[in-house]
Amino acid sequence: MCYDSQALIEEAEGSGFSHAGVLNTAALIFMPEVREMCSVDRCRQYNRNWRCPPACGSIEDAAARASEYSFGIIVQTVGQMEDDFDIECIEETGKKHNENFASLVEKLKKRHPDMLPMGAGTCRLCEECTYPNSACRHPDKSISSMEAYGLWVSKVCEQSNVPYYYGKNSIAYTSCYLLK
Ligand code: SF4
Repeated sequence: MCYDSQALIEEAEGSGFSHAGVLNTAALIFMPEVREMCSVDRCRQYNRNWRCPPACGSIEDAAARASEYSFGIIVQTVGQMEDDFDIECIEETGKKHNENFASLVEKLKKRHPDMLPMGAGTCRLCEECTYPNSACRHPDKSISSMEAYGLWVSKVCEQSNVPYYYGKNSIAYTSCYLLK
């Protein structure tokens, strides 16, 4: 592990994430199959948000962009649900994850202005996305998810030796930061 990765992991752990680990950049395989899952539109965001497919760009573009980065970290926020229907826990854990993720993006950008953050879930900066009628309101702040880029998140975690499953009734949100 390089010094930068270790320092970043410590910084992430101190920023409110439950877990952080080194991202294996060889695990960044951008898969058309993941895009196909997006197109089924279970999350009701496909073709509805600038940061989701198809607007967020092609698999090929994602792979080319990611290839510019030499290292990165994975960050996770884990919640413990009372049962499978504990929507409150799911929402609270997701909110906490996204707030901590955005906050660390801002901190890291000061040292790594060219970094590439990949989040969890669609961009929710605006109450209603402007897609497709007018340009994104916050192009410098809106972030696509790992899935939107075409990554199979559990495989990326597995190949990075970072757990993905934290036990019965757990919910884990996973994101990553790519750096040069
Ligand atoms: S910042 Fe607003 S307009 Fe841009 S992708 Fe996010 S929700 Fe849509």
